[in-house]
Amino acid sequence: MAITAIKGFNDILPGEVEKWQHIEATARRVFGLYGFDEIRVPIMEKTELFARSIGDVTDIVEKEMYSFVDKGENRVTLRPEGTAGVMRSLIENKLYVADAVSKLYYMGPMFRYERPQKGRYRQFHQIGAEITGVADPKVDAQVLTMLRHLFDELGITEPALEINSLGCQECRPAYRGLLKDFLRSRLAELCDDCRRRFDTNPLRALDCKATGCKEATAGAPAMLDHLCGQCDEHFSATKHFLDLAGTGYRLNSRMVRGLDYYTRTTFELVTGLLGSQSAVAAGGRYDGLISDLGGPSMPGIGFAMGVERLALLLEGERFRVSPDLFIVAIGGDAHPAAFRLMCELQRVGVAVEMDYEGKSLKSQMRRADKLSCRYTLIIGESELASGRAPLKEMATGSQVELPLDAAAISKTLGS
Ligand code: ATP
Ligand code: MG
Repeated sequence: MAITAIKGFNDILPGEVEKWQHIEATARRVFGLYGFDEIRVPIMEKTELFARSIGDVTDIVEKEMYSFVDKGENRVTLRPEGTAGVMRSLIENKLYVADAVSKLYYMGPMFRYERPQKGRYRQFHQIGAEITGVADPKVDAQVLTMLRHLFDELGITEPALEINSLGCQECRPAYRGLLKDFLRSRLAELCDDCRRRFDTNPLRALDCKATGCKEATAGAPAMLDHLCGQCDEHFSATKHFLDLAGTGYRLNSRMVRGLDYYTRTTFELVTGLLGSQSAVAAGGRYDGLISDLGGPSMPGIGFAMGVERLALLLEGERFRVSPDLFIVAIGGDAHPAAFRLMCELQRVGVAVEMDYEGKSLKSQMRRADKLSCRYTLIIGESELASGRAPLKEMATGSQVELPLDAAAISKTLGS
């Protein structure tokens, strides 16, 4: 029996991978416009990094982490998200010393032990960006505007940007108390998870998908109505700067992110096209995270987007680039001549294919067609003798005769 991949772990095959390259290249280009540098951090970290940052009473830490004890008895975890590792690196390498403001982006695989389904896998990929060192709401607006810009560049305009504020250490505890008072008489209607988390993480009930929880929380108090003066001001200013940037949004006072480190502004890009996997990108401010991890007291904000879900939204679009030219060789002498010309053309930047095995003319033409080559060049005995061959544009059928010379051919193909 052949060995198969692990459940929830996917291959990204040729034909699909070009879409991923397009997404990654577009992200790099857009992030560059906003002054972000790439950072690459390990995919495995000490388990305590995630437990401490994401929070003990979150779905990720409670249920979804790939954690192991390695041969040296170290407790390690395959990263379930990117922010914790990037912040660990920022602190460990003291990146804030050379420049108090860091703008970093990353891309790569993440791991969560979830039930695999469309848009939800056990190894998945995120592209994320973080700005640390600035508390000003202009930065919140800038990050959201960059995220929207990236989606626009990818031609994905359907998702809506939803924003909320989760308050801070000053105002959230009081709100939590209010919410618990509200939920206490409705505990029986909540799902098992939400009942269990009632004491430790009652906010989760607000975005729980269970019908009972939805109904029970329908009239619940909203964090947005109970922000302290400073958080309220920060949120108003964020909305103002979003307006100035021309970045549209809607409020979602029930949005609770699944990670404990968020403070103030939180956001999601939500799509109606992927069923219950509705979030394609998500993030927020994390003003306490860096100091919680042993770094200086320093604010931060960032987001991550799911590349698999982006790819699903680009389904049907073609990103594979066809070869420029297929050289058809007929007869024993034509093959080495065609091979040599192909190598010369590849050297000067033309994407060329030929048949390596001396198949029939018909079979060569079929392959040129299958590869959607833009041009064919047919070389036989008489072309070898005259040193000239017909170059045919496949889409139009139009034909020109050219010298069998790499410079002349590449010039014609380029024009
Ligand atoms: P969801 O509500 O769908 O579980 P999440 O809140 O757990 O998402 P985040 O931790 O905020 O997601 O991660 C950011 C993005 O990463 C998500 O918006 C989504 O696009 C993607 N993502 C998260 N988990 C998975 C997964 N298991 N498979 C594929 N993509 C994922
Ligand atoms: Mg999740």
